[in-house]
Amino acid sequence: MAHEILQLGGPHLKACKCCGLEFYGRRNQKFIDTTHKANYNNQKNAVKREKLSPVFKKMATSYYVMENCQRRDMLDRWIHITDLIKEGFDANIPTNLIKSKTDGKQFYKLLDYAFRLSEDGTKIIIHQLKS
Ligand SMILES: [Zn+2]
Repeated sequence: MAHEILQLGGPHLKACKCCGLEFYGRRNQKFIDTTHKANYNNQKNAVKREKLSPVFKKMATSYYVMENCQRRDMLDRWIHITDLIKEGFDANIPTNLIKSKTDGKQFYKLLDYAFRLSEDGTKIIIHQLKS
C-alpha cells in the first residue's frame, strides 16, 4: 500500500523544507506546519551561531581577562602581554578602534575597556572607559 500524501488545503504537491515529507498544499507553502517551520529556522540559526561562537568566546575570555586585571589593580600601566595571553587574552579579537582625546593615541575598545600595545608588541596597557 502506497503511503498517503498529506492533504493540507491546496492542490500543489510539495516537499516540506524541514523534513522532505510530501504534502499537497498552497502554491507558496514550504512547510507542513508552523512547528516544522520553527524547527527549520532554529536549525538554520544554530548553524549561524556555531560559526560565530569561537569569536564570541574569544571576545568573552579577553573581556574577563581585562576584568581580572582591574580586580588586581593592573589597569592604567604597562604590563607584560604574555601574562594575559596565558589567561586566554587575544589582542586580535574584533574591537573598535578609538582615538584618545588627550594624546591622539589609538586604542582598541572592547565594551568598557580600551587597550594599546607597545611598539614591540610585548606590553599592553588597559584602561577602563567611563560611560
Ligand atoms: Zn517538515
